[in-house]
Amino acid sequence: MSGSLAVVGLGPGGPLTLTPEASAALESADALYGYGPYLDRVPARSGQTRHPSDNREEGARAAAALRHAAAGARVALISGGDPGVFAMAAAVCEQIEGGSETWRKLDLAIVPGITAMLAVAARVGAPLGHDFCAISLSDNLKPWDLIERRLDAAAGAGFVIALYNPISRARPWQLGAAFERLRRHLAPSTPVVFGRAVGRADEKVAVTSLEAAEPSAADMATLIIVGSSLTRVIARPGLAPLVYTPRSAPEAGT
Ligand code: SAH
Repeated sequence: MSGSLAVVGLGPGGPLTLTPEASAALESADALYGYGPYLDRVPARSGQTRHPSDNREEGARAAAALRHAAAGARVALISGGDPGVFAMAAAVCEQIEGGSETWRKLDLAIVPGITAMLAVAARVGAPLGHDFCAISLSDNLKPWDLIERRLDAAAGAGFVIALYNPISRARPWQLGAAFERLRRHLAPSTPVVFGRAVGRADEKVAVTSLEAAEPSAADMATLIIVGSSLTRVIARPGLAPLVYTPRSAPEAGT
């Protein structure tokens, strides 16, 4: 039997946002690899082995999954959200590029999932209705200086910005610095959305402004959307406000 590797996105939360394709890939696997808390979201199945690993060990986890697949197993390597967004699919490609020739011949599938920015956006309206970008605030794998240049460029060019990995115990000041940077380009009233653990039992979504945005309102499970100058908030009686970015931009639409 020849092995295979599926890099599977679990979506943001529970089974409702797991695609049927991802569900099928999980069911047919002999072995599951992933960050422990993500593996805990996949129900146990008899005959299937589970290989949890720590958050920081992406390269080693990808290599272990590739080795297991090359030995003949059907392996599923899981990611939260989409595996191609700040997650395991790129880690697997890095290992394939630098690793054993046999890995290039493996049957490899990347199974997409709903990424956090889409899940958060859907909760509040349509903040990503016009041009947008995604930036990870983690400076583990890139210098902070580069992140600041990207924030300047994105805000200056009128993109709505989704901020992944906003804060952690090891990175306590970066989100505050990012808000400060964005305040140079954007009006104080620019809408900001905090979406925490969307799709899970402890979900929390809040809409505020760039002026009032507090880094302490975010944790590792939070995705932040910072609007552009075109992003608007529609108040609704008795209902949460709608946040959206119109589909069209005027000539000076930054
Ligand atoms: N591959 C994942 C992102 C991994 S980076 C995806 O496509 O969603 C991890 C970051 O994603 C977190 O720090 C947070 O910013 C965001 N995130 C992941 N799941 C989330 C959820 N359910 N709700 C809000 N943000 C989430």
